Amino acid sequence: MDAGGVPALTYAALEARFALERVCYERLRIAHSYISHSDLRTWKPQHVVQTVMEMVDANIASDWTLNIGSEPGDHPPKYIPVGTQKGFDPKYINQLWQAVSSFLHCALPRETKAPIEHYAAEMKLRSKLEEVLRELDRISEGTMIGALVLEKVSFDCVCGQKNSRSTASLKHNDIINCIKEGCKEQFRAEEVADEFFFERRKIPVSCHKCGYQHGLPYREVTEMSKATEGWEFKCRDCGVSNVFMWQLRQFARNDQGMPEPTDQDG
Ligand SMILES: [Zn+2]
Ligand SMILES: [Zn+2]
Repeated sequence: MDAGGVPALTYAALEARFALERVCYERLRIAHSYISHSDLRTWKPQHVVQTVMEMVDANIASDWTLNIGSEPGDHPPKYIPVGTQKGFDPKYINQLWQAVSSFLHCALPRETKAPIEHYAAEMKLRSKLEEVLRELDRISEGTMIGALVLEKVSFDCVCGQKNSRSTASLKHNDIINCIKEGCKEQFRAEEVADEFFFERRKIPVSCHKCGYQHGLPYREVTEMSKATEGWEFKCRDCGVSNVFMWQLRQFARNDQGMPEPTDQDG
């Protein structure tokens, strides 16, 4: 950044992105120690940032100080600080990551006649980089990182991935996405007599031809793209293709002010 000039600042944006990714990798590795190194290696950086953002375990992103008692017992005469973790807002980190990433692409013009710029504007680059640096400096003030997970519950996803949560931060009805990249399975936590169970969220769909009942992964259906081709699956019993598509519908207000579909299609 001191060298100045737009090419140098663009390179600084790349370094800033590395640093943000590293912060996320470190937190994820510690909070989910069961994620194997080889699993993590296959994840795209964006997925790591996203997973850290979505994680329910608030401890990896919170401020805390670990103290150790000078003598054994519940009330030692003195506590000695061992280290401090600096927390961060994962949404903010994601926002910064998106911003510096945008500088690593061609800046598209806002109108058709404007020239296509190779680099982002210098002022914009510099002010965003300064913002990232402030946040990285603040996080680096911490002397240790770790997950204050006292008690954990785990469950295996249908894809084989083990998922864990700290019971301290888990609530009844919490929704948990499987952490494996590409897996669309989602689970609902259910607390019964101080014990947690995890229920797979699925959408019941019967085959249009033979009626065979399928339990489709909730996110697979609800997060399908709006592309006109839709999303399809083959029936597990008769093999026929079943297609889903988003449909835009028109509604009108009835006498009670509630929306009701009109007769028009499309
Ligand atoms: Zn899974
Ligand atoms: Zn069928």
